[in-house]
Amino acid sequence: MRARIPVAVLGATGTVGQKFVRLLADHPWFEIAALAASDQSAGRPYGEVVRWREPVPLPERLAGMTIARCAPPLPGRVAFSALDADVAQDIEQSFARCGAFVVTNTRIHRMDADVPLLIPEINAGHLALVQHQRASRSWPGAILANPNCSTAGLVLALAPLHAAFGVEKVFVTTLQAVSGAGYPGVPSLDILGNVIPYIGGEEEKMERETAKILGTLRDGTVEPAPIGLSAQCNRVATVDGHLETVSVGLRRRVKPEEAIAALSQFRGPESVRGLPSSPAAAIEVDLRPDRPQPRLDLDRGKGMTVTVGRVRPCPLLDLRFVLLSHNTIRGAAGAAVQIAELLVAEGHVS
Ligand code: NAP
Repeated sequence: MRARIPVAVLGATGTVGQKFVRLLADHPWFEIAALAASDQSAGRPYGEVVRWREPVPLPERLAGMTIARCAPPLPGRVAFSALDADVAQDIEQSFARCGAFVVTNTRIHRMDADVPLLIPEINAGHLALVQHQRASRSWPGAILANPNCSTAGLVLALAPLHAAFGVEKVFVTTLQAVSGAGYPGVPSLDILGNVIPYIGGEEEKMERETAKILGTLRDGTVEPAPIGLSAQCNRVATVDGHLETVSVGLRRRVKPEEAIAALSQFRGPESVRGLPSSPAAAIEVDLRPDRPQPRLDLDRGKGMTVTVGRVRPCPLLDLRFVLLSHNTIRGAAGAAVQIAELLVAEGHVS
């Protein structure tokens, strides 16, 4: 049995940071060697500072670990970043400069031309951007990003449709859980019994990131996929899980059964299927008329499976459907851990 690879979590006290800690606590390949957060938290035991909200006990070893400042060097060849976006840029770059592979949840570097924005089942080949990044920025490490939480579920559902039929247009409306805003996030008096039809920057992120992930890597650059996308994002009073209603225009008229087959049969490349965080099925289609629902379907594939339902004709475009994805697992920490596993499987980290 090989020794587990030491890793650090930056922003370990936040919503996504805690999810990292939970997913990495008993990971078969990785071992948490450092937990880091702001200067206000640094120097104190993690268990005393964190408002632990995961439904499993915090392991004693981690509760007793002293929180480090978010500055390199920290032990660990991989640094998972769940930092507040306002402070992420300098910190993430300083770790890459010191030789770490930074896998980030923040928006800061996602659209940089030399940063791979990855959903391993879809575009593992974009990992090749790392070579260009190292050459152009002259640093020994690298920055890799997972998509925004609402983009992750959408792109997983679009990818098999795009591969089989060619997606040309997308209308998507999101109903996003409060955990997507971090902790403490949206004040309870604003969200209880309410819907907020605005999430700053979210619609633009969905539009840009989708084109990059589904884009084609050519000569060291990703050519964005030519898909017209209109997103409308809403915050609703669910705790976890982003539900999205989607209409798509395809290159040809497609029957719902054909789309259901493409979605159900979707499997990533073999090298990705074997990663510890990859679910048996990245997409499950549920044919019951009132599914998916956040309370009932969120934890499929340990939060890494996207559930698609209500696949039917659209009177304006070609098809419409509903999807559900776990925003802090498939849309954040689980996605980043899967990317780090890909780095190991491809020989970048050992
Ligand atoms: P959060 O709960 O507000 O946590 C923010 C973390 O950043 C905390 O650990 C905090 O440490 C740390 N931090 C703040 N200022 C710092 C500083 N000056 N130096 C070092 N660390 C600092 O946020 P979150 O929801 O977990 O989100 C984290 C990132 O992931 C964000 O960029 C967000 O956009 C992105 N994201 C979130 C989701 C989601 O569903 N929540 C999904 C995808 C991506 P202290 O506790 O010490 O202040």
